[in-house]
Amino acid sequence: MSDAASYSVRDGIAVITMNNPPVNGLGSVLRPGIMDGIKQAGADPAVKALVIIGTAKAFSGGADIREFNTPKMNVLPSLPEINDAQDSCPKPMVAAIGGFALGGGLELALGCHYRVALPKSLLGLPEVKLGLLPGSGGTQRLPRVVGAAQAVLMMTTGNPVPAEKALGLGLVDEIVQGDLLEGALAFAKKIVAAGKGPRRIRDMTVKVEGEPKAFFEKVRAEVGKASRGYPAPLEIVACVEAAVAKPFDEGRKEERQRFASLVEGNESKAMRHMFFAERQTSKIPDVPQDTPVRPIRSAAVIGAGTMGGGITMCLVNAGIPVTLIEVQQDALERGIATIRKNYAATVSKGRLKQEEMDKRMALITPGLDLAAGKDADIVIEAVFERMDVKQDIFRKLDAIMKPGAILATNTSTLDVNAIADVTKRPQDVIGTHFFSPANVMRLLEVVRGAKTAKDVLATTMKLAKTIKKVAVVSGVCDGFIGNRMVEKYGQQSLFLLDEGCSPQQVDAAATKWGMAMGPLAMGDMAGLDIGWEIRKRRTIERPDFIYSKVGDKIAELGRYGQKTGKGWYRYEAGSRAPIPDPEVEEIIKKYRTENNVQTRAIPDEEIVERLIYALVNEAAYILEEGIALRASDIDMVYLTGYGFPPYRGGPMFYADTVGLKNVLNSIQKFQAGYQGAVWKPAPLLVKLANEGRKFND
Ligand code: NAD
Repeated sequence: MSDAASYSVRDGIAVITMNNPPVNGLGSVLRPGIMDGIKQAGADPAVKALVIIGTAKAFSGGADIREFNTPKMNVLPSLPEINDAQDSCPKPMVAAIGGFALGGGLELALGCHYRVALPKSLLGLPEVKLGLLPGSGGTQRLPRVVGAAQAVLMMTTGNPVPAEKALGLGLVDEIVQGDLLEGALAFAKKIVAAGKGPRRIRDMTVKVEGEPKAFFEKVRAEVGKASRGYPAPLEIVACVEAAVAKPFDEGRKEERQRFASLVEGNESKAMRHMFFAERQTSKIPDVPQDTPVRPIRSAAVIGAGTMGGGITMCLVNAGIPVTLIEVQQDALERGIATIRKNYAATVSKGRLKQEEMDKRMALITPGLDLAAGKDADIVIEAVFERMDVKQDIFRKLDAIMKPGAILATNTSTLDVNAIADVTKRPQDVIGTHFFSPANVMRLLEVVRGAKTAKDVLATTMKLAKTIKKVAVVSGVCDGFIGNRMVEKYGQQSLFLLDEGCSPQQVDAAATKWGMAMGPLAMGDMAGLDIGWEIRKRRTIERPDFIYSKVGDKIAELGRYGQKTGKGWYRYEAGSRAPIPDPEVEEIIKKYRTENNVQTRAIPDEEIVERLIYALVNEAAYILEEGIALRASDIDMVYLTGYGFPPYRGGPMFYADTVGLKNVLNSIQKFQAGYQGAVWKPAPLLVKLANEGRKFND
């Protein structure tokens, strides 16, 4: 037997112990050992029952993700074969669940005839979160234990249930207080003493809440609405329906077929890509994982505005005390009042305890002088977006901060190197680009300056994890990864207005395709003055800069978006719902006439292609320049910071699914169209397309 699974016999009970760190993934090193143990116990007349147990941390987290897409996936026995062996084992088998039993881990436990668990254990089938369904009998066994409604709920949300709840559902037979193995052995002996044999789930029938046809019609309608076009949840419902209507083996066959078609589908491929992409972001080729990090026990945040307040919340949420610094008493009070109001709203929704809020507020120390934060391990600057203001602050920080402190800037566009270079310690300077609202958005772009030290980068990446952000490393350039791309996306949205679209048509095409928000509504949310300022700057930097001035026409009227109640849309007081505005239509129409723009009807398909390929083309430049480390990092930026639909996997993954040659062909077509000069296919895109390759190879 392999080291990962060990076998012993105690008082006539065989114990199969799984030990495949970190989460007892059911990989190729573990499955054969489990199978051998089941066979050995079945054949040994001295053995009366079996216990399968993992570690205190994990019974099993399911498939071993390290083996995905490797030949090891196919090493026999497979989990379904183990399930068959469990079913045909003549002796009762008990799963002893410590920690969690998830996915294949729970399917293994469902193959056992009884289940005991520790009070804090969690049991669940989260496959839907990867666009899949449980493929080893989970959709057939779970409903037979907990009933159709509960099984649908657990599998379509993917959320695990705690042991106490599982006990109530019949998914767990007993909660073990104290030592899990001792408890499981005692339970197994009880079963043997009572003369109970194997209790095979496959022999049970599914309890349906009401008449099956009506029940499934209702469930399909509810799940269909909630799943918004994702196929996996409805496929799960279909499998549960099969569990009700068909014999076990036929249901299993149907489960296998439906699983196979989901595995092949783009949605699940995209979601699995996202899963792995997230794990890749922390890997930096020239910064080894074991790079020593600096301790971060305290922080200072400069500027208590929109971003400073949100960043402070992120830090204190993770228990890191923050000195929050402003220049004026009233600004400081306003900033702290906003933080308090945000927490209070969460408390009133019942999502945070008052004591917890008090604890977090107590971690904030207000200050009116930079020196108040001089002992902090990291200082994050979030003042106005002006180079002179930021450089002035960094000079002062250089003079007062303790040696080894990390000096971070939240700038969204400015040159981090130019900020670092006013200090005598540019190696300690880094960019931490949070997204608004900083306490909500998962993305953090970590901007590596030319002189940023490796341990400063490693420490910042670790801090990002502590405050539960998805951190993506970006090199220094205007807009970093995300905003540099979004500028091209916004540019196309304005050209589409020139050519005949209404704001609502552009936005509807984008949201129908899956974006959380259309580009114009997004502009209204961010503030149209920001893009206006950038365009003004661009015309100075590059006299040949091509852009549509229709956005300027809107901004010149003081229509800055949600904050002024008017932008590309109008907004009722206190509401963020965009309402189409005839005034805007007039402004656009006048602009077209004045500029002699020929209008035409533009199909949604072209709108989407122009918006998304504008992102893709700029991303290809970003990748080629080494600003992003890998294509999947760019995907993570868009998935976590810009409302890109997870089932499309990010702009690069999406381009790969379309085929880079097709993307390039469309871009070449756009080059011949309206304002086609802005479309210069990135050399990397051309090269990969010609070689028949992908961004995410
Ligand atoms: P804001 O205007 O809401 O807040 C800035 C705060 O800094 C103000 O409260 C101001 O009083 C304070 N301040 C100015 N000078 C100061 C000084 N010398 N010492 C201490 N405090 C000072 O601005 P914001 O939206 O929070 O943006 C802050 C930074 O974050 C900018 O660099 C911006 O580009 C960047 N950023 C903003 C967003 C966003 O969506 N708002 C997103 C990412 C990054």
